[in-house]
Amino acid sequence: MQLACLDLEGVLIPEIWINFAQKTGIDELLATTRDIPDYDVLMTQRLRILKENNLKIQDIEEVIDSLGPLDGAKDFLDWLKSEFQVIILSDTFYEFAKPLMRQLDFPTLFCHKLGIDEEGNVNEYRLRMPDQKREAVKRFHELNFQVIAAGDSYNDTTMLGEADRGILFCPPQNVIDEFPQFPVATDYAALKNEFLQAREDLG
Ligand SMILES: [Mg+2]
Repeated sequence: MQLACLDLEGVLIPEIWINFAQKTGIDELLATTRDIPDYDVLMTQRLRILKENNLKIQDIEEVIDSLGPLDGAKDFLDWLKSEFQVIILSDTFYEFAKPLMRQLDFPTLFCHKLGIDEEGNVNEYRLRMPDQKREAVKRFHELNFQVIAAGDSYNDTTMLGEADRGILFCPPQNVIDEFPQFPVATDYAALKNEFLQAREDLG
């Protein structure tokens, strides 16, 4: 029995922080896990910038509400759900993801939570546990599932390594160069084929 584990941002939806940076014009917010592999360093920087610019959760939600899934993402996810049990493993936060999850028919999502005060200030972020994507795959193995995983960036590579088959979807060149062991899919048709091939190989 095989599970499909998918990253969220860069695979099904656009990068939330990049869109937020473009709307606010704050270039420093353009950094993502593609640029800064240490998520703690990245998030601490993001929260500092929000505070310095007096930006609240409502400002972020406004941007997220205007975003949609990537072109073809909903159809791909619907297909994947028809073939596998699908779990999305993301380092985003439930508060950010909700408007987009609605547009994807609320797939199962394991991610993190923000600490927000009554005035809407984002004061902290709460990771459920370190390296949760990889830990989730380990737990699924303990439950006797095989795992086929796909993601686009640094923060997916431990998940891809732990999985029975890891696939990179539209990754940046530096990730391709550093992790040549993973096959690369550059569109949903190719990703679909990688999942089917993995299922056949794993038997
Ligand atoms: Mg991603």
